[in-house]
Amino acid sequence: MIDGRVVSPSTGATLPVEDPATGEIFAQIPAGSPEDIDRAVRAARASFTAGTWSRADPAHRGRVLWAFARAIRDEAEALAWLETRDSGKPIAEARADIVGTAEILEYYAGLASQVFGQTTRVPGNSFATVIREPAGVVGQITPWNFPLYVGAWKFAPALCSGCSVVLKPSELTSLTMLAAAELALAAGVPPGVFNVVCGTGAEAGAPLAEHRDVDVLAFTGGAVTGRKVLHARADRLRPTQLELGGKSPNIVFDDADLERASAGAAFGIFYNQGENCNAGSRLLVQAGIYERFVARLVERAQAIRVLPPLDERSQMGALISAAHLRKVAGYVDVGILEGATLLCGGPPPAEGHFTRGHWYLPTVLADVKPEHRVFQEEIFGPVVTVTKFTEDDEAIALANATEFGLAAGAWTSSVQRALRCSQELQSGYVWINNYNPTPVEVPFGGVKSSGFGRDCGPQAVDTYTTWKTVLWALSPFDDWYKQ
Ligand code: NDP
Repeated sequence: MIDGRVVSPSTGATLPVEDPATGEIFAQIPAGSPEDIDRAVRAARASFTAGTWSRADPAHRGRVLWAFARAIRDEAEALAWLETRDSGKPIAEARADIVGTAEILEYYAGLASQVFGQTTRVPGNSFATVIREPAGVVGQITPWNFPLYVGAWKFAPALCSGCSVVLKPSELTSLTMLAAAELALAAGVPPGVFNVVCGTGAEAGAPLAEHRDVDVLAFTGGAVTGRKVLHARADRLRPTQLELGGKSPNIVFDDADLERASAGAAFGIFYNQGENCNAGSRLLVQAGIYERFVARLVERAQAIRVLPPLDERSQMGALISAAHLRKVAGYVDVGILEGATLLCGGPPPAEGHFTRGHWYLPTVLADVKPEHRVFQEEIFGPVVTVTKFTEDDEAIALANATEFGLAAGAWTSSVQRALRCSQELQSGYVWINNYNPTPVEVPFGGVKSSGFGRDCGPQAVDTYTTWKTVLWALSPFDDWYKQ
């Protein structure tokens, strides 16, 4: 979708779209090229300069975003179906993504006319107005795990701020983003303001990150690609927002409500097949409750219904691709070799719906030590590691013993422990007696190697706006060189 039109890619090439649950190729998407990215950036620049959106009344932008949200709600069932086929996630979770996408747009619709500048008197009898301006042309590169929902974390605040966008979705999951771009146009987002170019990371992602006319680049994905994107942006000396992976600790203290904590631990790791940047993938469990807690967690993991994702009863679907399945299974093998104990899960039996597609069962690895690779590296699948601790200090130290800092959880009935965790856990997000919700009203993002800048909340607007200071003399100009 470039300049308000569905166009063929310059090379005419397409990419096959696979249903992860069956392996069936059920669609083709355009394989965008560097020329297509350039075409989209030029359309975005032209629309930004023309001011049809960038200088529109913020209230108008809000109304259009609201209409866009309404269109997403009206098409929710079709979009959820598409998301499920494209990503392999259960239909109930795809529905939650689509409703979440509408909520994100509604939030930024409301925020559009709340983005204010500042004024102040400054020394020298001057008066300053500090204007908040849209940052310009924004490039956005989004992942395959929450294709439309995490995409909306990027495009909604950018559109709210008055920017023009070129978004490259993951080649594995582009369908709902293409559909959303058409809905945006119909809702009144002017041509050229919201461009979507599909394609591979190499042919479309890298050219977008490297493009000299992209003012801000926002990326969600893995650390390896994030580093490449940042290098490209360093060469251009242009700002970048990164939301990368995590290895998030979920701490269960001995005074926690074990039923709720085990439910939260299971939900924290197994939601979306564990393909979740903030997955609670490292459980840290206090010694006094360790055996009871782990037994309950295993019961819960084994009870999760791993079914074809369009089956209404499905609670876990298929992994995104054969390559990703190999990566996840490989990590579990490495964990066992390093000394971890496989308590449940692993590859499913080769029967029924498991004979096609990319399936892996909810997996619990116990006796995991901080030096194990499965404790340190992001697996991004339905695999949780469990590590025992004794003292609270030890729990905090273990939680922080990773290069990542995206999210963390703590389960306890003690206010002191909860407060201590909220202060001492090195992470951009902390859940207390809770795990996973990411309401759009509050910022989401990481510290350490999990990235910088924030999605969601009013903070996301910081990425997509710049400050311009205007200094007004309130008295006649005082000649420095008095002659
Ligand atoms: P990537 O980080 O490679 O993909 C994220 C996005 O970047 C996709 O749109 C991808 O396109 C694009 N991309 C790929 N290469 C480049 C490049 N050189 N320049 C610019 N953009 C590029 O994720 P993967 O799919 O490879 O997954 C690898 C790992 O990353 C996962 O196993 C997981 O650990 C982590 N990950 C984390 C996510 C998160 O939410 N934080 C989301 C996804 C992955 P394309 O898909 O078309 O290649």
